Amino acid sequence: MSHAPDKPPQNPQVVTRFAPSPTGFLHIGGARTALFNWAFARHHGGTFLLRVEDTDRARSTDEAVAAILDGMQWLGLEADAPPVYQHANAARHVAVVDALLASGHAYKCTCTSEQVEAMREAARAAGTPPRYDGTCRDGGAKDDMPYVVRFTAPQSGETVIADAVQGEVKIANDQLDDLVLLRSDGSPTYMLSVVVDDHDMGVTHIIRGDDHLTNALRQTQIYTALGWALPTFAHIPLIH
Ligand code: GLU
Ligand code: ZN
Repeated sequence: MSHAPDKPPQNPQVVTRFAPSPTGFLHIGGARTALFNWAFARHHGGTFLLRVEDTDRARSTDEAVAAILDGMQWLGLEADAPPVYQHANAARHVAVVDALLASGHAYKCTCTSEQVEAMREAARAAGTPPRYDGTCRDGGAKDDMPYVVRFTAPQSGETVIADAVQGEVKIANDQLDDLVLLRSDGSPTYMLSVVVDDHDMGVTHIIRGDDHLTNALRQTQIYTALGWALPTFAHIPLIH
């Protein structure tokens, strides 16, 4: 009598994604990250998605997109839906920034890059982490000037994530400054786009290299400001 192998627990709610930036070829680290996401989704009977993070228009190339798609196919890591191109979601990203402005979780900043550099320099000289000093936080932005939109990051307390690989990871909020969500040319930044897309794609588990751990803390603050449920983060040690 043959013995049926034990079936892994099925959880069709599981949604993972691989989110490469098409600025080069699919390298071994990326392939490994994709494999973890694919295997985790398959194990649970969930969904594996591919998102091409092509928001850096200057550095993203069609050749690199093709190389990623070919590489995934060659590795047998096919996604369960057509790829999502992040750049195509820019209008949605801007709408979310508008919502954050309206709810007081973001503000316009008209500081020049020279001013911001001077703030960083002053922080370095004082031996504190280089950061934006909050000049425009309380309506300090000047009218009729080009502006960026910054996130109103919490200034006290701490941000904690329960990482499935790293365990509890936390940072004191005074270590993170008011990051830019929207550039002065109206384009959304990576930190905002990734949160909105992961939310909109229903991603439940974000498995990626541990070089993204600090980003995960910042992204956690953005999820919280938006009142969105957090995904489970799993940051895997990188191959060097
Ligand atoms: N596009 C990012 C990268 O290639 C990854 C973003 C993410 O996994 O959250 O590094
Ligand atoms: Zn400012």
